[in-house]
Amino acid sequence: MKILVINSGSSSLKFQLINMTYKKTIARGLFERIGEKKSCFHFRKNSTSETIETAIKDHSTAISTALNALTSRENGILKDITEIDAVGHRMVHGGEKINKAEVLTPEIEQIMEDNAKLAPLHNPAMLKGFIETKKLLPDIPHVAVFDTAFHSTMPPHAYIYGLPYEYYSEHGIRRFGFHGPSHHYIARRTAEILGKGYDEVNCITCHMGNGVSIVAIKNGKSVDTSLGFGTMCGVPMGTRAGDFDPDILLYCISHLGLNADEMKDVIYKKSGLKGISGLSNDMRDIVDGAESGNERASLALNIFAHTARKHIAALATNLTEGMDALVFTAGIGENSIRVREEICRGLEFIGIRLDPEKNHIRGEESEISADDSPVKILVVPTNEELMIAMETEEIIRG
Ligand code: ADP
Repeated sequence: MKILVINSGSSSLKFQLINMTYKKTIARGLFERIGEKKSCFHFRKNSTSETIETAIKDHSTAISTALNALTSRENGILKDITEIDAVGHRMVHGGEKINKAEVLTPEIEQIMEDNAKLAPLHNPAMLKGFIETKKLLPDIPHVAVFDTAFHSTMPPHAYIYGLPYEYYSEHGIRRFGFHGPSHHYIARRTAEILGKGYDEVNCITCHMGNGVSIVAIKNGKSVDTSLGFGTMCGVPMGTRAGDFDPDILLYCISHLGLNADEMKDVIYKKSGLKGISGLSNDMRDIVDGAESGNERASLALNIFAHTARKHIAALATNLTEGMDALVFTAGIGENSIRVREEICRGLEFIGIRLDPEKNHIRGEESEISADDSPVKILVVPTNEELMIAMETEEIIRG
């Protein structure tokens, strides 16, 4: 079976064609700056890649360009589009009604539209990607895999905030959690690595890329997470603030004269690693800066590690009957030796003991805990697209 995975953003679109027999990506591509003068199409198959600067006026053009690349005789990937068996679409917000992947029907489209206000940047763009792909591939199943669905197993005491209950019951304000396919994939791989059944795995997964979320997984189910109603809380991210006291918002609005849009700009685009360091939103620059004596880069690194540690220790309270592993993934988690070292230093009291030698790896699946560590520490490269394809396959096979 071959599954096309589509991840559609407002001005970008990523795709991967995955052979499900071997769980291998056959080809992948990325369109950037859709609708602008200088759009770009990066395409990769086997070990060759190319970047074409070409006008991509909209999502429909991006998808037809992708299908042409996949079926062109010179690329030799597919004879024609009938070789694609299904499409898996990454969707961000399923709201409260969606707790698993779903075949895209008009009802699911409606739920996506209803949830647009919860994810205004993502849901409309993803829906657009689906509508345009469906026009070009009308005869095969299209499945939506939601970021939020993996966290639908959280108990009410983890997802309801300390606000008046009506904010939840009437307005749906609650913790949702994000990066579901990544955490789900990591938990599955962790179970395989540890030789346990998926329903028996107890771990904390740290997805640390441009966005950061940490999740407690008990018996294979998400039971609590550092992200919330939106993607703002938890650990400071590239440009997002992470946890801060909501009183600060009220103070800035009352005393600094900032309005809601200006505050949003501050907390989403000018905060986090970039705001603290004044240097960069990229963890590589922060680590380099800290190592060459830049004090604010050091401060950003310390705040990141301290907040991550705090969340890991707090989330571990969900796993008092046993914690098998702490798992790092995504750009920072997979690649930053220094960040993993900083986070683990100070977590020995909950059984997390790093082996500094084993920690010297980047981007490869590896166990990095000391031999006597009660909790295993793992690095597992994430593969959200493969998880989306696996969930798509499971849905269409019933
Ligand atoms: P996204 O969340 O957009 O998918 P990634 O998971 O690719 O992002 O993570 C991107 C981030 O990973 C970069 O901003 C950078 O901070 C971090 N990163 C990548 N390589 C390294 C490295 N070697 N050391 C530290 N951080 C890294």
